[in-house]
Amino acid sequence: MTHRPGQLWVVATPIGHLDDLSLRAVEVLRRVAVIAAEDTRHSAPLLARIGSSAATVALHEHNEREQCERLVERMQAGADVALISDAGTPLISDPGFRLVRAARAAGLVVSPVPGACAAIAALSVAGLPSDRFVFEGFLPPKSSARRERLQALVAEPRTLIFYESSHRIEESIADLAAVFGPAREGVIARELTKRFETILAAPLGRLAERVATDADQRRGEFVVLVAGAQDEQADAVLAEGRRVFALLSSELPPARAAKLAAAITGAPRKSLYAPGGDAG
Ligand code: SAM
Repeated sequence: MTHRPGQLWVVATPIGHLDDLSLRAVEVLRRVAVIAAEDTRHSAPLLARIGSSAATVALHEHNEREQCERLVERMQAGADVALISDAGTPLISDPGFRLVRAARAAGLVVSPVPGACAAIAALSVAGLPSDRFVFEGFLPPKSSARRERLQALVAEPRTLIFYESSHRIEESIADLAAVFGPAREGVIARELTKRFETILAAPLGRLAERVATDADQRRGEFVVLVAGAQDEQADAVLAEGRRVFALLSSELPPARAAKLAAAITGAPRKSLYAPGGDAG
């Protein structure tokens, strides 16, 4: 007997306010046979609230590889599976990438049930240009690696979006102010859709000061947004890149000097040295 294969539903859940679960999400989470959840205990109250009696299985970064195979087999055998994470949209700084890829590779239908996403919710209220933006997820935990990552973004003209936790918000904002300069415009969106929702918009230097001196501003969950570099800022970064490149290339091969100068200043490597082309 032939049977119809099941499919994968990628379902967004709330990032705070429980009413931010769409009617379609409720319908899908009630109807599927299996729900793959990042943490089944965390999701249990939400699923109980909507009366879902689907079987739940854990799918997190440590077991995603093995679970993928089992879940794909179940879908091939006819079961519909929903993927959810602890909060917001799965795969956005959350597990699920391997499962989506495996399901698609197996020829199964994968459909989104869209909803809350902290990055997009923050962007929608930040008042920063939103026509083009870059989502950078979590910054590295160590300050040296974090500053290096930020340095590479200094000349980025698009609005930047980062996720941050209460453990590191103070250090990260201080590093943002140090690397991008205290005058660059920033926004901290804290506890979105929850009781203590706060949106602070100010130059990064003032935000760093506020977070350092007000313990409340270090509690909860954060999205940090930074205005993209203006033309003058990008020009200044390029000028500095060229200066450092000129210094280094007197001691090093030009390709190596360009790589280092780009890492140090944030200037695009190709604008400093293009082998066989116009080095600018
Ligand atoms: N998948 C989620 C999404 O769609 O936004 C993100 C999951 S990630 C593991 C968790 C991070 O998202 C938090 O550390 C914080 O940076 C951000 N976040 C989640 N909920 C938030 C909220 N209510 N307010 C502000 N930031 C939030």
